[in-house]
Amino acid sequence: MQVTFIDTQIPKPGTLQEVAAGIFWLRMPLPFDLDHINLYLLEDNQNGQDGFALIDTGIGTPKTQELWDVLLETLGKPITKVIVTHLHPDHIGMAGYLVEKFRVPFYMSQVEYFTARALSAGARGASDWQDDEYLVRCGMSEEYVSNAKENRKSNKGVGQVIRPIPLQFYRLQAGDNLRIGQHEWQVYIGRGHSPEHVCLFNPVTNILISGDHVLPGISPNIGVYSTEPDANSLKLYLDTLPQFTQLPEDTLVLPSHRQPFHGLHTRVNDLISHHHVHLDNLREFCKQGKTIEQCLPVLFKRKLSAQNLFFAIAEAFSHLNYLYFAGEVSREINAEGQFIFTKK
Ligand SMILES: [Zn+2]
Repeated sequence: MQVTFIDTQIPKPGTLQEVAAGIFWLRMPLPFDLDHINLYLLEDNQNGQDGFALIDTGIGTPKTQELWDVLLETLGKPITKVIVTHLHPDHIGMAGYLVEKFRVPFYMSQVEYFTARALSAGARGASDWQDDEYLVRCGMSEEYVSNAKENRKSNKGVGQVIRPIPLQFYRLQAGDNLRIGQHEWQVYIGRGHSPEHVCLFNPVTNILISGDHVLPGISPNIGVYSTEPDANSLKLYLDTLPQFTQLPEDTLVLPSHRQPFHGLHTRVNDLISHHHVHLDNLREFCKQGKTIEQCLPVLFKRKLSAQNLFFAIAEAFSHLNYLYFAGEVSREINAEGQFIFTKK
């Protein structure tokens, strides 16, 4: 089955569009190249009260709050639960605001919840020599490394776009069922894009809420960052994708970006082969030793903006670490302190 978007109007920011019985698609704007996120409201009943369970919340900017406030005025029903797929600011940003406003349960996986709290708390005085070292190991120029250091001083971090995270959560784990309205949703865990990303599948209606784990048209960022330089995120991602080919082929997928679509199996297999093509090209390219920075053109054909470069380095690192931990390339540190990856 080919990937096809459903034939439904894309909702304007802050407005709802029904995509299946009792499921409403909501778009919120993002101040990035990727200029929107999809949120979903599911008809629910909590303690006898009708309302909507919310999946993801939008980034914590004044603009998103304004749109939320207008929508909540017209919605006519309260939010009953706030469920967040993973810790990225566009997903968790407004969770604290909404949980506080409605005093409702907040659902996340455990690793995502505590990582989100740690990241939003910031460095708390810890030094950042590891961030410098990370960029040097990646093969970035001296100028780039010192600019990044300057930027970190003035950057207030993700805490700026994440409202204070609720101090209590309800844990979602693989294999759990979460009741929303009349339906039991099964929890699936994806890894690699974020540590313990929650996807929800309804086996009665064959609907998958896929978050960022499976996206149409764009490949989710799979990165290695300075927090964990020996992460093997690409392996985690490739290990947790095939489970979705076990779901029915005609599953309707509700992703966090772009549009709802059919063709889950095709999309999952395309994502897997997308990364294998990159790995093959890197195997060839690294016959002569290469830095991470030198590998960027192998993965990215387009010109990278400064913002995208940060994610691109991390993405290249995850592919090279994958080959390194598979024993296919060596990883040496040269005189400049850069990692050199060489095919064995
Ligand atoms: Zn994400």
